[in-house]
Amino acid sequence: MRSNIKLGRVSGIEIGLHYSWFIIAALIVFSLGEHFRQVNPNWGTSQIWIAAVLTAILFFVTLLLHELSHSLVAQARGLKVKSITLFALGGVSQIEDDATDAKTEFWVAIAGPIASLIIGFGCLAIALGLGWQRSAEPRTVVTAVLVWLGYINIGLAVFNMIPGFPLDGGRVLRGIVWAVTKDADRSTRIAARIGQVVAFLFILYGIWEFFSGAGFGGLWLVFIGWFLMDAAKASYAQVEITAALRGMRVSEVMSHDCVTVNRGMSLQEFVDTYLLRTGQRCFAVEDHGRLVGLITPRDVGAIPRERWGVTTVREAMRPLEELHIVTPDTQVLDALKLMAGNDVNQLPVVANGALQGMFSRSQLVQLLQARSELQHPAAHYPPITAHG
Ligand SMILES: [Zn+2]
Repeated sequence: MRSNIKLGRVSGIEIGLHYSWFIIAALIVFSLGEHFRQVNPNWGTSQIWIAAVLTAILFFVTLLLHELSHSLVAQARGLKVKSITLFALGGVSQIEDDATDAKTEFWVAIAGPIASLIIGFGCLAIALGLGWQRSAEPRTVVTAVLVWLGYINIGLAVFNMIPGFPLDGGRVLRGIVWAVTKDADRSTRIAARIGQVVAFLFILYGIWEFFSGAGFGGLWLVFIGWFLMDAAKASYAQVEITAALRGMRVSEVMSHDCVTVNRGMSLQEFVDTYLLRTGQRCFAVEDHGRLVGLITPRDVGAIPRERWGVTTVREAMRPLEELHIVTPDTQVLDALKLMAGNDVNQLPVVANGALQGMFSRSQLVQLLQARSELQHPAAHYPPITAHG
């Protein structure tokens, strides 16, 4: 989930909006406008819309505070937080590192719901202080906004504490199971399985509600259940992949068939003899056996065609200093993190100044697929026959 609109930074964390957030913001404004019109017939049109828009904006602020609580606790416990994005279904904090201990997992996860609960009860308390009667509809714009924010934040905290991975409740549960079993992978599997059961119950309950006349409300529950089911499956798959990759080194999965070119060659010659003939997308540039940079079709494209004859590969390449490199001993999981953090798809593998190979995501995916097919051969495969 990438944000389309950047709003600024808090404690180094980029705050942004995804376009889908506007859909939910518009829905909130219009349904609230309708609600205020019905319960406060004496309100003028401007009062109704001021209250609705103010509520939507403040709801956005409280959602952000929920996410910030996750992120700031994560930062305080030594994890790197990249960004917070608000989208149609809420907010998401991009915490770059996974929690390395059960306590961190627990506190990072529970910080959000705690913040929402405090905000929720705080809003209700202020509304009571301003004369709102608990049994009655709030009559002023300020109390109406506060009461709605109060209930929605308490609702947010309760919903997020559903013990389904990857909701906050699922992570809290994972932290607890982790503390008990001392096994990070197992705790994710258990939390994800429970998440699937919870999601299934949501779907069943939603269908039952739908047929007993709840209509859209029932379908909404089914939709939430379906979303949770998907997310739980994805986290389960994630932990399987992580477990498979743990301990694996870059040297085991890197490609060796990397084409090297001399740095003094002209771009024209490089294009004619290498780029157009080999079909490769990445070439290592060497100087007396030492890697000095990488050149890709994109780097060539950045130079105007009429200058290809007088530009050398060295001038067009990305020099080694600007590249993120790994060694053959680097853990595959660390290499993947480096790629994700820097938005690149491949990393040169370098040892003692010399290029050993390339590590790429696509190759890793192919390798994992090949391995999983070996483990679960599909039934329609032709029987393997011995060839001499
Ligand atoms: Zn949360």
